[in-house]
Amino acid sequence: MSTPLVLVLNCGSSSIKFAIINPQTGDEILTGLAERLFSNDAQLIFKHNGDKTVMAKPDAGHSAALHAVVEFIQQQPGLAEQIKAVGHRVVHGGEHFRGSVLITDEVMRYIDDCNHLAPLHNPANLSGIDIARKVFPQLPHTAVFDTAFHQSMPAKAFIYPLPYELYIHHGVRRYGFHGTSYRYVSEQAAQDLNLPLDNSAMVIAHLGNGASVTAVLDGKSVETSMGMTPNEGIVHGTRSGSIDPSIHEYLADRLELSIQQVNDILWKQSGLLGISGISNDCRTIEDAAARDHERSKLALEIYSYRLARMIASLVPALGRLDGVIFTGGIGENSELIRADVIRQLGFLGLQLDEGRNTATIRGARGPITTDNSPVTALVIPTNEELMIAQDAAHFIDQPTLATTGAAA
Ligand code: ADP
Repeated sequence: MSTPLVLVLNCGSSSIKFAIINPQTGDEILTGLAERLFSNDAQLIFKHNGDKTVMAKPDAGHSAALHAVVEFIQQQPGLAEQIKAVGHRVVHGGEHFRGSVLITDEVMRYIDDCNHLAPLHNPANLSGIDIARKVFPQLPHTAVFDTAFHQSMPAKAFIYPLPYELYIHHGVRRYGFHGTSYRYVSEQAAQDLNLPLDNSAMVIAHLGNGASVTAVLDGKSVETSMGMTPNEGIVHGTRSGSIDPSIHEYLADRLELSIQQVNDILWKQSGLLGISGISNDCRTIEDAAARDHERSKLALEIYSYRLARMIASLVPALGRLDGVIFTGGIGENSELIRADVIRQLGFLGLQLDEGRNTATIRGARGPITTDNSPVTALVIPTNEELMIAQDAAHFIDQPTLATTGAAA
């Protein structure tokens, strides 16, 4: 019998990322993206068997796009029959979900209850689940939450120094994100560090368009830089990260802006884009910096400095340090930022190996510190889709099992 495959779905507000994955080998049988949904330019892109297919689907929403995905799958001989489970990325699971769960109507209600915590993401995740459950009623559907891995944080890490009632009555606390990536990368890093996961201490930096850093002790998140929302912490592509909270009021008064307009500045016009003035994309900024564009040089300098500060600040949560791990598009590719950060962290015992650092890009994995470095820095390409596929595969033929994954 052929290996069961898992359909992995990541429904955003205007896009759907999808993949069909062999959860045992990690092979991606098909990958694709439905983008610019709800616009005249909506389109689907499929990559299958080395071929790329682009399909215009003007004005498609989630439903039309998912039906087009299903139609495409059904056109590939034997493929649909091999799909035995569906795994859904869900951004916010609040305090309710500590691991991945089989989706039931009750689970849908709990996810709905978390909508106010991630108003841009959860409603889209839910709508994707709703449609997919109708399209594949016979398959087990699993929700895998970005927040779940961080539910192991102690209260001293997740309670803000605000009136405690705001936590109790309104859920104001640190939740943390990128959890699925941290779960995958920490497992892989422990192997590369030759340590048992349950006796390891690492700081992992997931540096994508959104960026965060997490302290993982014995395989569990004990502190993370993102907070109640994915804006807190280090510099992001377009988001400010942590700033003086009174800047909100100052901007509102000074520029006569509403809270939404101030938020728009902090979420969409800040970060690498705001400082450089040219782009949120690290590659573009590195290119401009190489041509002596001053604000791009400053953007990279601030990015690396704030990242180094954050990594160092998480060490007390661990008590010791076995490794610093870089992942995400910038972590996996920007030798420049990694080198700058490692140099600033020399006092922690990190010694950069320039040759290794330069060579470890575009999907390569391995150490970027010297063999004598007291602490190892590693690059580990993340694979959230594989984690989602493996969690979903857990429920194939086991529909009574309620949870899996981190700290379930
Ligand atoms: P997302 O959070 O959207 O999943 P990614 O993890 O794909 O994002 O990371 C996107 C970031 O990675 C962008 O800032 C991009 O410029 C950066 N990146 C990708 N390749 C390189 C590279 N070769 N050098 C520097 N930055 C890179």
